[in-house]
Amino acid sequence: MNINLSVIKGDGIGPEVTEEAIKVLDKIGELYNHSFEYKYVLAGGIAIDEIGNCLPDETVNVCKSSDSVILGAVGGPKWDHLPGSERPEMALLGLRKALNLYANIRPALMFESLSDACPLKEEIVQGGLNLVVVRELTGGIYFGDKGRKKENNKETAYDVEQYWDYEVERIARVGFDLAMNRSKRLTSVDKANVLESSRMWRSIVNKIAKEYPEVELNHQYVDNAAMQLVRNPKQFDVILTSNIFGDILSDEASQVTGSIGMLPSSSLSNGNFGMYEPIHGSAPDIAGKDVANPMATILSCAMMLRTTFNLKNEARAIEDAVNKTLNEGYRTMDIAKPWEEVTGTKKIGDMIVQNIKP
Ligand code: NAD
Repeated sequence: MNINLSVIKGDGIGPEVTEEAIKVLDKIGELYNHSFEYKYVLAGGIAIDEIGNCLPDETVNVCKSSDSVILGAVGGPKWDHLPGSERPEMALLGLRKALNLYANIRPALMFESLSDACPLKEEIVQGGLNLVVVRELTGGIYFGDKGRKKENNKETAYDVEQYWDYEVERIARVGFDLAMNRSKRLTSVDKANVLESSRMWRSIVNKIAKEYPEVELNHQYVDNAAMQLVRNPKQFDVILTSNIFGDILSDEASQVTGSIGMLPSSSLSNGNFGMYEPIHGSAPDIAGKDVANPMATILSCAMMLRTTFNLKNEARAIEDAVNKTLNEGYRTMDIAKPWEEVTGTKKIGDMIVQNIKP
């Protein structure tokens, strides 16, 4: 297969972790006879520095013309002084909108060899954890009307949470489809006791549920869901939720599994197109030190091979190689216990490449 990818390395540890992911893809190409072509484009702080704009048109155009996108991470303190609309992170919102990436899939899977990195009591997570957050990504409060105004010498600021019915319908279908391929359990998370947008969300989810009679649906308010995620996370399989609630709950779910450096994500459009990225940010505190964990980005590539290109064996080969590397005891700084030897970013990448077997 010929696969044409756009690669956005971004800022901070973004370039370091994407380089390891490319090494892994090249090895997959070699073993399974695929040809990966990479087009490197700029977004985030580096694009501000080099082009004066966090999301240049060329980046959007190249991404649109490729089969999928791999992204490291963007942002960092260097650009913190910029006004909100000019900050590197705006590139993410711009890409999501321009590429119509409305469905964010964030699996939270606990690796057996890392189970003791989980901050919860052993009896709560015994037997492992494997849930997935389906987060709506192009609507809600992050994209609603926002602003500030002054009246009578007082200032106010507002961000509007707004959803259209079709936005909720399509993300609900993504959630139910995923649930059908897993344990057929779906929890829709909202704040329908307070928010009108949540009440519409809930009624639409109930309507779509009729198309999936095999899926067991329940609803939770977001405050309860946040509590349940640490009290009894194993009750969840697929969590379906809005943009802002999904942002928060998926970070919480990631910590329950151990390290933010392990978890991949996909952001999907209609058809097979997607953008694949680790859930972590640019980690400026550790950038350039060869200590970042590249596994989340490498596992994002496995998600890409499975979801966009239907290359299940290749995806499995990457996941097995990550598992084997962990089982052999290799640990980056974020997942190493104080007495364990720490392996650098590049070396971990090399070990994973070495462990890929067809
Ligand atoms: P972060 O995820 O970058 O870092 C949080 C903590 O986790 C830090 O201590 C960091 O060192 C650690 N960490 C993160 N990824 C790691 C990895 N792969 N290996 C080892 N340790 C890792 O979150 P933050 O500090 O809140 O944000 C830093 C910057 O990243 C900000 O500018 C933020 O806006 C941006 N950000 C970008 C994205 C994205 O590009 N998708 C997502 C979140 C945050």
